Amino acid sequence: MRDVLPSILRRLEIEPPVFHCREIRAFGSRLELLIRLGVLREMAPLSTAACPDCQFGSQRRVEYVADSKTHARHGYIHCPQCGIVEVALDGLRRWRVDPAGFLAAAFSGAGVSGPATEVIPGRLWRVGKVTWAARRREVYFTRWYRCDGSNSLVAEMSRRPKAILFTATEATARRWTGAVENLV
Ligand SMILES: [Zn+2]
Repeated sequence: MRDVLPSILRRLEIEPPVFHCREIRAFGSRLELLIRLGVLREMAPLSTAACPDCQFGSQRRVEYVADSKTHARHGYIHCPQCGIVEVALDGLRRWRVDPAGFLAAAFSGAGVSGPATEVIPGRLWRVGKVTWAARRREVYFTRWYRCDGSNSLVAEMSRRPKAILFTATEATARRWTGAVENLV
């Protein structure tokens, strides 16, 4: 999982943390493992697509039709230039990073007692407790840095200055250093 981890961490700083079909191909056989671990979950497919024949104009709504004989699903768009065009359904698939699943997978091996609980929806979790260097510490994780939404996080962390705060990327860690008393 080590080689796909940087992509997942960077995606956690985006809302929503979604991978589209084209990007997920790079995950190869790791996709299945990440789904099994609960790190990635497949979402409902995209409801719009560009015309695959001419890439004309903007995204068009995909109409799903089941084949009356095979019952296989097909997707079609109405392109102003080409008419009714079938789109490959595989290309519309997408996967979302589940922060709780990611935290369980990332911290369970580090001796942090879980499960993680969401403190600020979508942004801050209490991962659990851990003994590091003979000290019992609380571990928190934050993602999706927004300067306009930092007050509630700073208030939350100021109540537990001894807790260790993890971020998804080093860039975010630098933003929080100084803003909170905690070890980031
Ligand atoms: Zn077209």
